[in-house]
Amino acid sequence: MRVLVLLGAPGAGKGTQAQVLARTLGIPHIATGDLFRAAVREGTTLGREVKEYMDRGELVPDGVTVGILLDRLSASDARDGAILDGFPRTRAQAEALDAELAARGVGVDRALYIDVPSEDIVRRLSGRWICEAAGHVYNVASRPPRAAGRCDIDESALVQRDDDRAETVRARLGQQMGALGEVVAHYRATGALVMVDGGKPIAEVTEALLDVLRPAAERRVG
Ligand code: AMP
Repeated sequence: MRVLVLLGAPGAGKGTQAQVLARTLGIPHIATGDLFRAAVREGTTLGREVKEYMDRGELVPDGVTVGILLDRLSASDARDGAILDGFPRTRAQAEALDAELAARGVGVDRALYIDVPSEDIVRRLSGRWICEAAGHVYNVASRPPRAAGRCDIDESALVQRDDDRAETVRARLGQQMGALGEVVAHYRATGALVMVDGGKPIAEVTEALLDVLRPAAERRVG
């Protein structure tokens, strides 16, 4: 089982990169934000519980978040591993994940931090659109869809997330960056942390991430 963690500010490109890595590595992309949005759409008890946190740009409590993530990680398609996107977001979540993986005799393979300056983040998030059906991500500036307002992959309508409004973006950044610092410190201490420059074009960031994940013997020299 190979578990990879993608870290970075909201809008750093975690979702975009996770989709590519999942296809390339043949393991599922698991995003707690997507799991929560699906629950809100379906109107489940969980959805009603998490909606108010999401609307305020706040983190959902650790107990709820760890529960939904470990549940998803136990599904059969994740038996060889997974790419976690948006989890862990707090030190307690990171420790809960470590404990679960230790029980399975593994650990987090790499925690890949996609580093983007915060002024770029606000610009990116306010231009972000996702498809209604599956959450495929587009950006008016850096990754426009082929047909305006339609997903390239499933042709569903593109919508802006409620929490991508400018005032919520600022709240999310303010509230979530502190906790992210703790998670980064955790993986620095375990030795799993790798930093990648997320300011580059999408394909170059993907290449840098794959380069980190290749066994040392296969890596390009220099
Ligand atoms: P995201 O799509 O990753 O930006 O997540 C959207 C929202 O879902 C966040 O602003 C939080 O309210 C909630 N959320 C997603 N993942 C987590 C997590 N690991 N811990 C707490 N809240 C989360």
